[in-house]
Parts: sequence; C-alpha cells; structure tokens
Amino acid sequence: MQVERFVNSILGSNTYVISFEESNTAWCIDPGDSRPILDWLADNHKVLCGILVTHAHFDHIYGINDLTNQFPEATIYVSEYGKECLQNAKLNGSLYHEMPFVVRHNKIEVVNENVSIEMSDNQVMQVWETPGHSRDSLTFYIEEQVFTGDAFIPGIKTRTVFKGGDKEQAARSIQKILSRINDSTVIYPGHKEICYKKECEIV
Ligand SMILES: [Zn+2]
Repeated sequence: MQVERFVNSILGSNTYVISFEESNTAWCIDPGDSRPILDWLADNHKVLCGILVTHAHFDHIYGINDLTNQFPEATIYVSEYGKECLQNAKLNGSLYHEMPFVVRHNKIEVVNENVSIEMSDNQVMQVWETPGHSRDSLTFYIEEQVFTGDAFIPGIKTRTVFKGGDKEQAARSIQKILSRINDSTVIYPGHKEICYKKECEIV
C-alpha cells in the first residue's frame, strides 16, 4: 500500500491518496485542491474508486466535485451527519469562506463504526467514530496506518469551537484513537506532518 500526501492551498489541509501496487485503483481521503490529485492519478495510471471523508468541513471536501466529475463511478464514504453537511454550504462552512460549496455526486455511502470498507484484496479500512472536533468526525484505520482528520493532530490542541464541537468528546476520541494503535502506527492527520505514534506530541 502506498500513501501520497498533498498539502492544500486552503488552510493547509492534508489530502491523502492511497493506492495498491497490485491494482489500478486508488482512494482519496479529504480531497482539497483537485489538480495535483488528478495529475497524480493520471501519471500513475490509477482509477479513483472511492473518496473517504474524515469530516465535512470545507477545507477537507472542496475537491470532491472535480474528482467525481472525472471519476463518476467513485463512491463517497462519509458519516450520516457528514452527508448532510456535504450537501449544505452552511453546515460545511463553505458559505463563510465566500465560496459556497455543495457536493453534487449522488453515489454516497453512509458509514459508521460497524462498517469496514473493502479497499483491495484482503485490505480493509476500518471506520472509527471520533466526534469532538465536529459531530461527524471519523477516523480511518488500515494496517498500522491511521487517518485522523482533525480529530487528532499531533502537537495541536483539537479545535472544538465550530458548530457541533465538544471538548470532552474530542478528548475521549483522542484517547480512543491512541488506545487502538501501537507505537509503530503511522498517524496521517488532517493538517500538519505525518508521524509515528511513538514520536508524536499529544497536547
Ligand atoms: Zn475540521
């Protein structure tokens, strides 16, 4: 499994593209600037088959329509409340960036803690509910690699000032993530640098 990181022009959010050597499929987590993602997919001859949304704040979703225009077969995986936010410019915060954005794609699959997403042969992405930064925050886990969105950013205090944020919930979600991973797990946060759990700073 290969993970490619892209740092976006809006708020420096991280987009990740996951691919597998043995197949031509790729998955995108939190699409921001679409051009670099589309170029990477073309250069590597990959077909985008899924988009995973850690949470539907604007800076983590604004590339979705560009990707699904290019790959109409791709499915979006998001929590139930996250789906509502994708389709509402007020709820996803884009209205306040003076760039109202709603997702137009209708292949959306709602996921929760009980669901795992089949990525490639025998490779399954687990879904963990990690609310607190936002009501809809999910964390995705596959093979010692964890994609935490804004629920856990090493070295940064989780922001809970947005609508639906909850400080205590956020702290519980961080504990939940940390209790489920080991020292050699790689953390891929929604902003800032990728790091191993053993090196990461918890504030
Ligand atoms: Zn956020």
